[in-house]
Amino acid sequence: MKILLASSELHPYSKTGGLADMVGALAKFLAKAGHRVGVVTPLYQGIEEKFPDIKWFDWSINLPMGSKWVQGEIWTHEVSENLTIYFVRKPEYYFRNGLYEERHISFPDNSERFIFLSKCAVNLARHLAWKPEIVHVHDWQVGLVPLLIQHQHDEDGWVDPPRTCLTIHNLAYQGVFPKTHYELTNLPQKYFHPAGTEFFGMFNCLKAGLEFSDLITTVSPRYAREITTEVFGCALDGVLRRRQNALIGLLNGVDYEEWKTVGNPHLKHPYSIDDFSGKELNKVELQKELGLPVNPDIPLFGNISRLADQKGVDIQLGALEEMLATDMQFVQLGSGSPEFERGYRRLAERHPDKVSVTIGFDQGLSHRIEAGCDFFLMPSRFEPCGLNQMYSLRYGTLPIVRITGGLDDSVIDVSEDPDKANGIKFQEYSVRALAKAIRKALVLYADHELLDHYRHNAMSADFSWERSADAYEKVYKRLIGM
Ligand code: ADP
Repeated sequence: MKILLASSELHPYSKTGGLADMVGALAKFLAKAGHRVGVVTPLYQGIEEKFPDIKWFDWSINLPMGSKWVQGEIWTHEVSENLTIYFVRKPEYYFRNGLYEERHISFPDNSERFIFLSKCAVNLARHLAWKPEIVHVHDWQVGLVPLLIQHQHDEDGWVDPPRTCLTIHNLAYQGVFPKTHYELTNLPQKYFHPAGTEFFGMFNCLKAGLEFSDLITTVSPRYAREITTEVFGCALDGVLRRRQNALIGLLNGVDYEEWKTVGNPHLKHPYSIDDFSGKELNKVELQKELGLPVNPDIPLFGNISRLADQKGVDIQLGALEEMLATDMQFVQLGSGSPEFERGYRRLAERHPDKVSVTIGFDQGLSHRIEAGCDFFLMPSRFEPCGLNQMYSLRYGTLPIVRITGGLDDSVIDVSEDPDKANGIKFQEYSVRALAKAIRKALVLYADHELLDHYRHNAMSADFSWERSADAYEKVYKRLIGM
């Protein structure tokens, strides 16, 4: 099949979260399976320097954006014979200190930056010599693509356009702008109504994708069900219920070529399911690196995340405050809301011998935390898929998760299956429930045999991308048959 993906972030070129990992891995594994794959993504500041093989592509882009015309360039990276990255090069839009925001303030021209990206993706879909059959877009930044394609089919002579698929990575981010920004689409007003792109008088980019794509996927089966309810639907549950027959939940995979405990350049000590001893050595290295008392016997808890309300920061801070009275350590890596950053810094100040907090983004440290910790906390309010709990499982670091979205779909609690248990789950979104789950972890930690049993189960869980890519292939086949 011939598939064009579009995304505002793409590992290994750009990343703020799981979106980048997912699209990067999907592209790679689809190409490995023999499909012709392209990915359209912005050329952000610094990418050219890191990837000197990126080349100018003889392709002129000059597109209407409201009342003006905007020029851009397409640059390409030929990753393999059948995988090409199409970078949209427009320094005025994309060469900034941050993908979407700077100092926690969204760029005021985000609608323009990503409508332009969407139009470039459509331009490539229409004119690339290899004629993509499927256009698969990810999240609000390219949510407009299916509508632009349909419009060009209906009114601009595009005879046989590709089928479209939209993946929702997080329904909480919708790209909602004042209705005047709709003009930047150069689409007629007829699509600006409640069964189109309008959202309570505003212009909603994700909603355009939900209304006009042929199929919609999201990143776990449970989240696919959750988002059709009022509680998780972020005011789009009505649209999603209406489109329920086109909505599919597919769990993301893990790229085990990157997230591995043997041959991983970020880890000093390799270890495997047959021999956990290297894990303990990585724990000691991590304690040293982060300036914590070095003692392999102290249970070490970790968390890596965007510091956003979704991630359960408030109950985590509350539960840790209570639980740090016991003999345990906690390491945190993340950045985000200034209020949450302050909260973690204060926690570290109050417990300097037990807590290490690193504010920032550090890929290498994220591997070392995954490998060095005994338990990984993910008390999210909601979690479309979540990747860190799956990385934790592979690293034999037991995830402690709230029962929601992909966390529920990927972790097994003892109450579900004692033989296969590989983590600890809790339901209630509260300090009390999380503290209780941490207490359970401490009991488990003291029972070496049981701990090994859980670790063994965790490391043998299989979320390989081959499986997830297979599931997407089935979706594409369904699309082509439509
Ligand atoms: P989300 O996409 O909601 O941020 P996921 O768990 O799906 O959450 O994916 C987060 C990804 O981003 C993981 O690969 C995680 O390791 C990474 N990540 C998040 N924060 C940081 C950070 N501060 N440093 C390094 N990696 C991070």
